[in-house]
Amino acid sequence: MPNSSLQPTQISVPKIAIIGGGLTGLFTATLLERAFSQMNDQKIKDKALVPEITIFEKSRSVGRLATRYRSDSLTNKNWQWAFGAQFFTAKSASFQQFIEPWLQTGLLQPWCAQVVSLMPMAANNQTPDIHFKEQWGSTQARYISTPKMTSWGRALADELQHSTVKFNTRIAPLAGYKQTLANKTSNKTELFDKNGNSLGHFDWVICTVPNGQAVELMADSGFSECAKITEPTMQACYSLMLGWNENQALPEALSCLDTAWDVACVQDSIIDRIFIEHHKPEHHALLPSMTIHARNDWSEQHVDDDIDTIKAKLLEVAQQALNWNAESAPSQVDCHRWRYAATVTASHKEQLGVLVDDERQWIVSGDWCGQGNIESCYQMAAQMAAAMV
Ligand SMILES: Cc1cc2nc3c(=O)[nH]c(=O)nc-3n(C[C@H](O)[C@H](O)[C@H](O)COP(=O)(O)OP(=O)(O)OC[C@H]3O[C@@H](n4cnc5c(N)ncnc54)[C@H](O)[C@@H]3O)c2cc1C
Repeated sequence: MPNSSLQPTQISVPKIAIIGGGLTGLFTATLLERAFSQMNDQKIKDKALVPEITIFEKSRSVGRLATRYRSDSLTNKNWQWAFGAQFFTAKSASFQQFIEPWLQTGLLQPWCAQVVSLMPMAANNQTPDIHFKEQWGSTQARYISTPKMTSWGRALADELQHSTVKFNTRIAPLAGYKQTLANKTSNKTELFDKNGNSLGHFDWVICTVPNGQAVELMADSGFSECAKITEPTMQACYSLMLGWNENQALPEALSCLDTAWDVACVQDSIIDRIFIEHHKPEHHALLPSMTIHARNDWSEQHVDDDIDTIKAKLLEVAQQALNWNAESAPSQVDCHRWRYAATVTASHKEQLGVLVDDERQWIVSGDWCGQGNIESCYQMAAQMAAAMV
């Protein structure tokens, strides 16, 4: 008889589906691969337990950290706008450790922005009031991905070893599954695309889409934690993107202090923050580009308004904040509506955390289960990996 301790253990490969290729989905796949790899290291003679992970993403790209650019046909240079998340924090030691390899390669970089407080000009006042507020990095570091905000998502996807990303694949609601659960012989879930084509059977299904979309996916599915999905409230955000030609005069407000500023926190206005894109690390070759985020409460109130009306309104307010004239007016103007941008968390309320249905082996998560930022995507991914492994 051979020594049983030398025999490979018969363990089936867990098939895992991740719905959504945003940062929560990518972090989850990364952490699961690492967790399985660590488990295998501890089993010297055992058969390796390799997860088979499929990320289903309805769009053409991963990461959803949005970058838009436009090329100038005269100079061949680009305007570029990170019109979703501008930066992220890494307050916890575990997230600091997680981002370290990309800091080493320079793909992630700290943005030590000079931040000002800006009061737009009123009717009787000819100039905006601008004061130095802080320099990022002196107390809390903020990071960006270079050369584009989308670069990190692509790098994360490229580094996955046991995961496949299926683009342009929108997962259909899991509603029909409720009826079949009683009859099924295994714990596997069959997923379908929006055309009703089967995408295979999975041991675990992890949903990482925004909560408005998670409600639709999970409605009538029997998911045990369904009621909790609607607990966090999401607010919209409008992003205004402005660009200037090479050698064009820039608005006066940019040069009113001794040192150049990079970020403005706007007071008493429907716009919240102004970000100077071409001042960011590794962004100096860009043509002058600026992203402006409207306030979330104002964006939510106007979420269904005509986008051209919104663009005109934001442009008018931006002009009062930046004080441009005919020569220094932007040559490029674009506007984007984010329906689900900010998670409203009451500070007294505990974070929701990931929602787990052990019977079905389904997990629902996303940044909205935490504080609605990139660091929360990581925290939720870590919770999911722990819940599964
Ligand atoms: C305007 C704006 C400003 C922000 N500013 C900051 C900031 O300064 N700092 C910060 O840390 N965070 C910021 N954030 C938040 C940050 O962008 C998010 O926390 C993060 O991108 C969320 O990632 P996620 O993976 O949880 O969700 P998402 O990025 O929404 O990913 C979900 C993915 O699921 C896909 N999907 C949806 N439905 C389906 C389906 N049925 N089938 C298949 N795929 C599907 C979507 O296409 C999407 O790619 C900002 C966000 C916005 C919009």
